[in-house]
Amino acid sequence: MLWISITKTTHPGQLPPADKLGFGSVFTDHMFLMDYTDKTGWHDARIVPFGPLSLSPAANVFHYAAEVFEGLKAYRRADGGVQLFRPWENMKRLNASAQRMGLPLIPESDALQAVKTLVSIDKSWAPSAPGTSLYIRPFLFSTDPTLSLHGVHKAVFAVILSPSGSYYANGFKPVRIMLEIDDVRAVRGGTGYTKCGGNYAASNRADGRAMAQGFDQVLWLDGVERRYIEEVGAMNVMFKINGTVVTPALTGSILPGITRRSCIEMLRSWGVSVEERLLSVQELVQAAASGTLEEAFGTGTAAVISPIGELNFKGEGYTVNQGVIGPTAQRLYDELTGLQWGARPDPFGWVCPIEG
Ligand SMILES: *Cc1c(COP(=O)(O)O)cnc(C)c1O
Repeated sequence: MLWISITKTTHPGQLPPADKLGFGSVFTDHMFLMDYTDKTGWHDARIVPFGPLSLSPAANVFHYAAEVFEGLKAYRRADGGVQLFRPWENMKRLNASAQRMGLPLIPESDALQAVKTLVSIDKSWAPSAPGTSLYIRPFLFSTDPTLSLHGVHKAVFAVILSPSGSYYANGFKPVRIMLEIDDVRAVRGGTGYTKCGGNYAASNRADGRAMAQGFDQVLWLDGVERRYIEEVGAMNVMFKINGTVVTPALTGSILPGITRRSCIEMLRSWGVSVEERLLSVQELVQAAASGTLEEAFGTGTAAVISPIGELNFKGEGYTVNQGVIGPTAQRLYDELTGLQWGARPDPFGWVCPIEG
């Protein structure tokens, strides 16, 4: 058990109405912090009022980007209780990311306890309108106050909470995707399988270009051959081709999404065949042109399922499933969100209630 000191705010804030929440800009009353040094390891676990951090301008994270994060949600059930979805997987992935970046690992049970304690304290911030949630952002970064490049000797682990509006505030509808042919997000042997800040900085330019052309997301290709489909924006991607769901294999440059894994496990439990393998652009374009591409959708914690209505390859547009949501995407969305918000029973044991 981690011992966590708790200092409550003297100026509690107020949860804004659901339609004013948006994503990631409103924060709760408290945050979790814990410090690391080589000599003492992790220490001083504390929950304190949410507020600015004070760091040396030389802090390693500002210059060399030693930073990793996680993203998960607390869901308000109809009975008023609050629950998490497979949070153990996030804590495991946090350590996998930290290890890749040379950051200190955190015992997974301690990281989960930090999250659960903070959510429990700020539980009143978990909104209850349909589709809303309390987004949880754990992050870990190096604070060594030196410009020298010799490992990480000091670090901070923090957790902040952000009540978030429904991802589908304007309706559950398909998005338009553009294949990115210049920039790549990640390469094998690099950091693609981690949630490290640098990956997202490297994605900004392509994302901006796609948005400027009226697309919602970028479809990333592998960084070596620029031939194989990897991810869509910051989501994993799945295609239903001829009755089989095909998703790119985890080659090292792809983020191992928990939603991806949940979809695969759920689809298999329904008897749907799922293939994790390399999928080339050529194969995908052919499937789209010949009519065997039945559905395409992104998967991730934020959207759960994001149906793709159009794929654009080098100026050529391919409409998927007449631009409407397919039955597989719809069923995955209904059943996953049913589990997450507690409207359906949980045969998989994925749900983790918050006590108190
Ligand atoms: C977080 C993330 C995903 C989705 O992971 P989930 O665990 O399902 O939320 C997919 N791709 C990238 C690049 C991500 O950052």
